[in-house]
Amino acid sequence: MSDVETGAAGAAPAYLAVFTDFDGTLVEIAERPEDVEVAANLRESIADAAEKLDSAFAVITGREIDVIDHYLSPLHLPVAGAHGSQRRRADGAIEELDPEIVEAADELARRLEPLLADNPDLIVERKRGAVALHYRQAPEFEQACKVAMREAARFDDRFELVEGKMVIEARPKGLSKGTALRAFMREEPFAGRIPVFIGDDTTDEDAFIAAQELGGVGIKLGAGPTAARMRIADVASVHALIQGLGDIAARAGRIGGQHPPA
Ligand SMILES: [Mg+2]
Repeated sequence: MSDVETGAAGAAPAYLAVFTDFDGTLVEIAERPEDVEVAANLRESIADAAEKLDSAFAVITGREIDVIDHYLSPLHLPVAGAHGSQRRRADGAIEELDPEIVEAADELARRLEPLLADNPDLIVERKRGAVALHYRQAPEFEQACKVAMREAARFDDRFELVEGKMVIEARPKGLSKGTALRAFMREEPFAGRIPVFIGDDTTDEDAFIAAQELGGVGIKLGAGPTAARMRIADVASVHALIQGLGDIAARAGRIGGQHPPA
C-alpha cells in the first residue's frame, strides 16, 4: 500500500494555513489608500474560510492592524501590520514594537513634510514604526519621492526602504512580511500546517519565499517577476481561491486529514 493509503509518516496531510496581503489582493487598489472598497460578501467569505481552516487564516499587510480591523469589521483576524512591524497573534495578544522605533518613524514622517507642502498630491501614511510615501496621484514625482525618503531616513540606520506599487516605505530593518509569516507559523493554530501566502506586490516576495521555505506555496497576483511558484489573475480569483481553500479544508476534515497531529 502507498503512504497515502496507510496514512504512514511521509504522507502529506491536507491541512493548510492561509495568509493573504490586503491592498491589491483582498481589495482593488484605490487612488488613495483610504478609498479602498471591500466587496459585499468578502467578510462573510473570509469568516467562513477561517472557520473551516480552524482559524488558521491571517492578513499580512503594509497597513496598520487598526485599518484592517476597520475594513474587515466585525472580523478580528490575526494580522501582521506595517510589513511585520506590528503583529496580533491568533490569541489576540499584540506584539509591541520598541517605542524608540515608533518615535523615530514619527520623526522620519516629519522630515517629509516640506516635500508634502510643495506637492499636495503626495500622501504620507504614518504608521506605528513605519512610514509610507504614496505617489500614485503624482507619478512624475517618483524619483523625487525616492530621494526625499532616502534623505529623511538617513538620520536613523535602523530603517530600510522598500518600494511597492507607487509607494516607497521605510520599515525597521530585519522585519518583513516574511518574518511575520514565520512568526505566525511558530504559533497555534498555524504551527504544523502548510502555509499558503497570496500577494500582489514586491513587498510580498519575502512572504512568498518564507511560505515556500516552510514547505508551502506563494501565489502571486498579476504580472511581474516573482519567487512565488503560482500565479493568479485578479482580486476575484483571490476571493474564489480563499473560498475554495476553506471548502477543501472542510472536506479534508471529513476524511480525517484536517487536524494536525497533537
Ligand atoms: Mg498588496
